[in-house]
Amino acid sequence: MIKVSGLKLRPGEDVKHLRDKITRALSLDRICGGKVPQFEYKILRRSVDARKRPDIFFVYTVCADLGRQLEDKILNTRNAAGAEYYEEKKYDPPGLKDPSGLSGITKPVIIGAGPCGLFCAYILTLAGIPPIVMDRGSDIDKRTETVLNFFETGILSPECNVQFGEGGAGAFSDGKLNTSVKDRDGINRFILETFVKFGAKEEIAYDAKPHIGTDELKRVIKNMRIFMEENGAVFLFDTKMTGFCLTGERLGGIRTNDRDIMTDRAVMAIGHSARDTFEMLYEKNVKMVSKPFAVGLRLEHRQSLMNKSRYGTEYDKDLPPSDYKVTNRTKKGRNVYSFCMCPGGYVIDSSSEEGRLCINGMSFSKRDGRNCNSAIVVAVDEKDYGEGVLAGMEYQRKIEERAFALAEGKIPVLSLREFRSGNIRKDKEFGLEPCIMGRYEKADIRGVLDPEINEAIIESIDKWNESIEGFNDEDAVLSAVEARTSSPVRIIRNEAHESCIRGLYAAGEGAGYAGGIMSAAADGVRTAGKLLESYNKRDGNGI
Ligand SMILES: Cc1cc2nc3c(=O)[nH]c(=O)nc-3n(C[C@H](O)[C@H](O)[C@H](O)COP(=O)(O)OP(=O)(O)OC[C@H]3O[C@@H](n4cnc5c(N)ncnc54)[C@H](O)[C@@H]3O)c2cc1C
Repeated sequence: MIKVSGLKLRPGEDVKHLRDKITRALSLDRICGGKVPQFEYKILRRSVDARKRPDIFFVYTVCADLGRQLEDKILNTRNAAGAEYYEEKKYDPPGLKDPSGLSGITKPVIIGAGPCGLFCAYILTLAGIPPIVMDRGSDIDKRTETVLNFFETGILSPECNVQFGEGGAGAFSDGKLNTSVKDRDGINRFILETFVKFGAKEEIAYDAKPHIGTDELKRVIKNMRIFMEENGAVFLFDTKMTGFCLTGERLGGIRTNDRDIMTDRAVMAIGHSARDTFEMLYEKNVKMVSKPFAVGLRLEHRQSLMNKSRYGTEYDKDLPPSDYKVTNRTKKGRNVYSFCMCPGGYVIDSSSEEGRLCINGMSFSKRDGRNCNSAIVVAVDEKDYGEGVLAGMEYQRKIEERAFALAEGKIPVLSLREFRSGNIRKDKEFGLEPCIMGRYEKADIRGVLDPEINEAIIESIDKWNESIEGFNDEDAVLSAVEARTSSPVRIIRNEAHESCIRGLYAAGEGAGYAGGIMSAAADGVRTAGKLLESYNKRDGNGI
């Protein structure tokens, strides 16, 4: 096949025009003497190029199957601009050498049904060794009811919320699927195509910034679970790992809130918010270290302002709502960056512990909300929260308690003007009405984070106003507190992804090996590969 890059279509232009663009880019008319053959092509990548606005284009990379003979002729007779040979890198999930040799083994157990746990379970199911998957939260339908009730009433379920339940933290998310991890082995493409197989729109497989949106993601996750159940996997919801037992030197079983499940292989894919589970593992001497993360405030702007800044127009039905990614190193040497930017999205209450409040961002597949938001976060480490494996986690708890106390558990919000001046007018309406899922109230959020962190945030917002006009608009709205950008611990694991307990694997964001839906899912795929290797290497005792 031949890969052709740099094919441009105008926003709203029919994608069918790509065939003509390919024909022209490869001079097929001339090379084939006017008899251009029928050919198949596939879109590999689509991105928006707005650098020369108002001349904005969708830029496509495709692969076309023209047959080796013609492809050689094209690439040998002239250097077709942006064309080269192309071989698809397909990830082939590992299997079991001798499935028949598995009789009598205990089922593997996956703890956590987030992206990591789900993809780990999916690979094992495809390989013919369907696992038991447990999650402390409920299935996606019941969970959605519980979460919507929380947004409305503030009644939190510590076991079933935006962090916990089927789909994990990713279910109530913006569903951004971009990752900075290079796709060396085709696993990223495999994950995207798996989401498409279970109902996501095809574009996610080739968009430069793929996005599903919470409404679609929930449906896709449920379809994936049903497929696995139909192939022998067992899903246990509202079931929490509370401990584990050993058989000799290795794992013998997982303790849960209502029974023990005997197994010699279990994967902890527990996410960055499983604080009580981190405490349990720490008490049971499972080797862990504290891990740096970032904290900050979520900043809202009108989406039209961002569109104008990038596209030169406030709204264009044929262009995706504009996003941004900004970083800054402050005069005092703090690293500040925008995190989890949600175009046309909502700020949401993503708390999971009583008396503690944290926020994050979410959007629906249409991303048609009035505002956009992102967390403006500052990197923190032991210098900020002291030494100790769980010191970072306790620091997160402290700032979440401060945020909770400000407005009795409602999300505390302030305009940028009031945050700067300290002149807080509770009687005054917001210049920009916040888009928040959950209850919120105007409150003085300046005391939630340390002054040096507030200073770094303000300095950076002003800095970014140089590149994005209106970024420091005084009516922009700040909410507190973004405390869980990634896991505050890393569970030590070996090459086989096993923790210091043989047979107890550690994976995903919670274990400190991923950040975001895609990299967590990819770590799940790789960890399943490690489990299958261990089954294929089983000794005479079946271990
Ligand atoms: C609101 C929000 C929006 C986000 N938006 C995006 C986005 O747009 N794009 C992106 O890439 N990332 C986003 N993220 C981050 C992303 O969701 C996570 O990085 C990803 O879900 C991590 O996957 P995971 O499977 O490792 O862990 P998680 O998704 O956190 O899943 C862990 C699961 O383990 C379960 N669990 C925990 N402890 C136990 C226990 N003791 N027993 C049983 N079960 C347990 C939990 O209930 C949970 O379901 C967002 C996160 C949040 C909270």
